Amino acid sequence: MDRKYSTILFDADNTLLNFDLDERQALIKTMTEYGVPVNEENISTYVNINKGLWKQLEKGEITKPELKRIRYKLFFDAIGFTTDVDSFEVNERYLHLLGEGGNTLEGAKELCEELKNDGYDLYIVTNGVAATQAKRLKKSGLLPFFSKIYVSDAVGFPKPKKEFFDYVLKEIPEKDKSRILLVGDSLTSDIRGAMNAELDSAWLNMFGAELTEGYETAYIIRDIKEVRNIL
Ligand SMILES: [Mg+2]
Repeated sequence: MDRKYSTILFDADNTLLNFDLDERQALIKTMTEYGVPVNEENISTYVNINKGLWKQLEKGEITKPELKRIRYKLFFDAIGFTTDVDSFEVNERYLHLLGEGGNTLEGAKELCEELKNDGYDLYIVTNGVAATQAKRLKKSGLLPFFSKIYVSDAVGFPKPKKEFFDYVLKEIPEKDKSRILLVGDSLTSDIRGAMNAELDSAWLNMFGAELTEGYETAYIIRDIKEVRNIL
């Protein structure tokens, strides 16, 4: 069969996995356990601090161990919460609870199953914490559809670095770059990464954001199920 793509690289968080929901559930449990007042203001303060740190990580301004060490310290400082507990320990507990997540976005599992049954070679390319991502992906029920999971921790470079994709491209059987499609929700890590690696990409733009200047993508989709229509 004459297909444009043989191989699809999927981002995990907010592309297949419902990270926002997993994060919220783990965060509320963590806050409750350590006596942090649970309210929407505090939750969004944490979410924004975490987003900022991951952007810094993508740019290479901080490392993953630094992120783990300072995330809850910055959060507690921002909301004026004081505790004797080491903020690194709080982060470890949070990661454990996050690992109990694995909520998927609607239609994601069915899509992956269909693509796998149709003979596409599927991979996950994710920037998360390796052990946490492995646990969440296992719980999600998505693992049987993927040939391999690539987590930045284990690869040694985060998306969007070309080195991350060089590593992946060296390992997978498809050697013709034009036959590989990357699907992801993040312009800065996924779409930029595909540009760096010279791969076609589909941007999952669930909230109808503008395509920022300087970014190029082959397809823009509003729903993960639309991947079907571009293959
Ligand atoms: Mg994502």
